[in-house]
Amino acid sequence: MQIEILHDKKEKLSFLLKDSTPAFANALRRTIVDEVPTLAIETVEIRKNNSVLYDEIIAHRLGLVPLKTDLKGYTPIDKCTCSKEGCAKCQVTAVLKAKGPCTVYASELKFKDPAIKSVYPEMIIVKLLKNQELELEATAILGRGKEHAKWSPAHTFYKYNPVIEIKNVENPEAVAKVCPTKVFEVKGKKLVAANPQDCILCGACVDESSGQVKLNESDKDFIFFVESFGQLECAEIVAKAVEIVEEQLDEFEEKLK
Ligand code: SF4
Ligand SMILES: [Zn+2]
Repeated sequence: MQIEILHDKKEKLSFLLKDSTPAFANALRRTIVDEVPTLAIETVEIRKNNSVLYDEIIAHRLGLVPLKTDLKGYTPIDKCTCSKEGCAKCQVTAVLKAKGPCTVYASELKFKDPAIKSVYPEMIIVKLLKNQELELEATAILGRGKEHAKWSPAHTFYKYNPVIEIKNVENPEAVAKVCPTKVFEVKGKKLVAANPQDCILCGACVDESSGQVKLNESDKDFIFFVESFGQLECAEIVAKAVEIVEEQLDEFEEKLK
């Protein structure tokens, strides 16, 4: 198995997974979505709230605020030594105090650990009018997407790597032009698949070339896309997912013995 990075930006990553299997590609995708832990607010104690939103709605909105996550500093509560009591290793609290008239933003959540903050500080929690107040304490824990989507770190998907075969194309310019994702280039009057990984298998080039371009999908090579919601960087998400797959296989092997 090999990996070739295609695009790598802080919050978006795409790579070619070569010589693998659909089973492994899908296991990696599911592990990223369901198993890689992130921090999110799980409980909220509302001390004052005479805003237009009910306590439950404010708690729900707070739960969906993506938080910068430090995987080395925190442990999932089910693996912590505190027996699910809650301690500084598995949870972090934040306070929020606001008095209207004002707009309350996610950046106003002040966490005990200054490394933890909202990924998108301008997310609006609620608008307060004159004499309205909001005061609360929230507790964030590390959780997994399989328990609630708020803990999922990324949107991820893959496609089979397109294989483009070019035969005797008589109208290379026209075929290159018809491709919506600019896969082809014309070099010395010859059609060349310059960016095959951008192909979306729409079939327009097959029609335009009267079947002289043929399309196939590899069942060994996969193009992976990972788009982080911001709690973790993409490379960290993929590395953690691989670590979790390894741990699960070790556990399976151990139990099998
Ligand atoms: S199938 Fe569509 S996207 Fe793919 S190379 Fe042909 S025209 Fe371009
Ligand atoms: Zn703990």
